[in-house]
Amino acid sequence: MAKIIRSNSAKKSSVPSVPKKSAKKAVKSSPRPAAKKSLKPKSLKQESWTPAEVHEAFSRFRKANPEPKGELEHLNPYTLLVAVVLSAQATDAGVNKATRALFAVADTPEKMLELGEEKVREYIKTIGLYRNKAKNVIALSEKLIAEFGGEVPRTRAEIETLPGAGRKTANVVLNMAYGEHTMAVDTHVFRVGNRTGLAPGNTPLEVELGLEKVIPSEFMLHAHHWLILHGRYTCLARKPRCEVCLINDLCRWPEKTV
Ligand code: SF4
Repeated sequence: MAKIIRSNSAKKSSVPSVPKKSAKKAVKSSPRPAAKKSLKPKSLKQESWTPAEVHEAFSRFRKANPEPKGELEHLNPYTLLVAVVLSAQATDAGVNKATRALFAVADTPEKMLELGEEKVREYIKTIGLYRNKAKNVIALSEKLIAEFGGEVPRTRAEIETLPGAGRKTANVVLNMAYGEHTMAVDTHVFRVGNRTGLAPGNTPLEVELGLEKVIPSEFMLHAHHWLILHGRYTCLARKPRCEVCLINDLCRWPEKTV
């Protein structure tokens, strides 16, 4: 997924950045536990959004893009799971480039095992941390066959037991493959949740739970994609495009430019 961009030292952002992941653990996409030191700046005093404001914001997102789609290419729940595992610390475009050819020959755990780790490595060698990721893809395929009848399980707890899959992976798969109202918090959602004041939090888990609490159920199926796309194309990390932002009148960020 998109890389983490740290705040510019010249102009300190009032938004905490997603806690950094170590290279070793990067293939795990689960959020890290809360840092000991609070990342929430003392100056950030945002008024909570009213339910009417939240409804208004998501009504605007829905009107602008009624059926938002994720950008990771996949053919079925299994290839979605693999794509999300491969996307840790990588861009969706980079993952898609590698998985198009991979999924053409291996779109089930059985076919992936037949292909073998060495060949999987070859297909994905353009993606960061590809050696570990190839290992995880093979190991998770084995586990799916051994314990889940070759199917991607439908609970977060079960998905989280798969090598390379953490809470965020589970939330993406449950939402996109099975239509569950989960909220996967990546770097974009984390930033938007904090900046707007919709769900301020020091960790992805805090933001996830905060968003789940305030977003009405009618919007939850697509809320994850609306927020990712908003962060990726409008509420950019370094230069948010507040002037064209759909929710700039509602946003609580003191540094917004409108
Ligand atoms: S007004 Fe600016 S900071 Fe606020 S959500 Fe929109 S783009 Fe982001």
